[in-house]
Amino acid sequence: MKSSADIDPKDLWYLEPLLVTAVLAVTTTMWSYSVESTVLLHLFYVPVVLTGFMFGQFRGRMMSLLCILTATIIFLPSLFSDSVEQIPLVTIGAFMVWAIMLVCISTMVGILSDGWRLALEELKIAHEKDVLTDGLTGVANRRAYEYELERRFAQWGRTQEPLALVLVDIDCFKSFNDRYGHQAGDAVLRAVAESLQESVRDVDLVARYGGEEFAIILPNTGIEIAREIAERVRSFVESSRFSYNGLKLQLTVSAGLAELTSGEELSDFVQRTDAALYFSKESGRNCVHYHDGTDCLLAGNGVARTLAVSLSTDKPGQESTDAYTDETTGLPTQKVFLEELRRRSDESRRYGGDLAVAIVKIDDYAETTNEDILPRKSLLTIIARLASTVLRETDLIGRYDASSFYIMFPATALQQALVPLERLKCNAAKYGDPKYPSLSYAVSTGLTEIEPGEIPGSALQRLELSIAMATEAGGNCISVHDGFACEISGQAENSAST
Ligand code: GH3
Ligand code: MG
Ligand code: MG
Repeated sequence: MKSSADIDPKDLWYLEPLLVTAVLAVTTTMWSYSVESTVLLHLFYVPVVLTGFMFGQFRGRMMSLLCILTATIIFLPSLFSDSVEQIPLVTIGAFMVWAIMLVCISTMVGILSDGWRLALEELKIAHEKDVLTDGLTGVANRRAYEYELERRFAQWGRTQEPLALVLVDIDCFKSFNDRYGHQAGDAVLRAVAESLQESVRDVDLVARYGGEEFAIILPNTGIEIAREIAERVRSFVESSRFSYNGLKLQLTVSAGLAELTSGEELSDFVQRTDAALYFSKESGRNCVHYHDGTDCLLAGNGVARTLAVSLSTDKPGQESTDAYTDETTGLPTQKVFLEELRRRSDESRRYGGDLAVAIVKIDDYAETTNEDILPRKSLLTIIARLASTVLRETDLIGRYDASSFYIMFPATALQQALVPLERLKCNAAKYGDPKYPSLSYAVSTGLTEIEPGEIPGSALQRLELSIAMATEAGGNCISVHDGFACEISGQAENSAST
């Protein structure tokens, strides 16, 4: 059954002529009545209210004028037969009041009806948009994606025009959120969705398929073109810098794609695309694979995977079963650091107090190969032990990534934090293990101070900049970022790199 909101005035085209006929019929009936029978004039309210309600104020007013005209006609014979003075003034007054009332009522009902109709229309449009649009990114949502995919699939059955599907997943987005916070994550999701939208044609549909996953439906597109589009999207995201609170954020995406093949079920098609995406993830991320019907093959050049790889493989604690303890060193992981950094930065905003943080990177770690597990383990455990000898109980040390440690110095200013770090640097550079005589234990250190309330990501960017500077300076030195610029502390000692 149709609700009243679903009734379209166009469906009731007969109502208006019906009401006009009714008015004329009432008028004819009243012709034979005396002027005193004007009580029947109240019947005119019915067509006026109905017209105003159904067709708006303009047509409602026209109907009220018609009613006044026809009612006046009833009076005319009395005007001609009697002299005007014989019509009681009160009757003329009542008639005038009635006529004004009729116009007012038609206008009022019409205005209400117009407003109601407009609001209903806006609500309908907003609802349709809400139902099919993702609230965060503004692109189509999963419901719209499924609807469009089924529609294109059915269309394919009729026209056999090629149809391709691309699934895009942001790499290591969980770490990204940990680093920069959920709000930065949301901003980046919006920016990535916008980038995807800009990279495709109007007929293509970009949808948010899941949390940080997007789907692109490419109608009338063969695998060759789809590969180019997916690779374009990947390299575009890789080269983009997303601005957030003064930070320039960078991330990568992995993609998988497939073209619908003849006789294939829709679910198999989606599954093949998903398999290609999974293959891209397994292949190191920041690359595109397509499923050719039997295998997953690399699409595009799949180069420059550095960022994705560094984010994913340099998360030692996350590969172990316990995300909070690093297996090799037994120290807290990067996850702990990020959580602690966020908490303490909030605390320093509320209660004040200094908070210095440092990253200590083992210079020679990269020189040892993946197979050199023992020397690597020795490098890590020795530096962790040397660090613990120079730190206070309140300082927190943990593993930052494969080759580095983080150290937090609560209630410590930059210059104070430099003292234990200098000692650590000297002790590490002097250290030698007879089992691995060629191994250097020298470290490069980046040091900065946390601004009250700042997100971990921006402090980490300063620290990484400092580390990069210390490494460029030849290692075995400390680079301090005071919030404005980076500077090597004291004299760089390049003995470790030689
Ligand atoms: P992978 O490279 O393997 O895809 O790793 P990943 O971390 O991107 O994938 P995983 O599935 O482990 O985590 C997805 C993360 O995406 C988890 C969640 O924090 C984040 N995420 C999902 N939806 C949203 C959202 O709406 N906003 C934000 N900020 N983050 C989201
Ligand atoms: Mg992901
Ligand atoms: Mg995902």
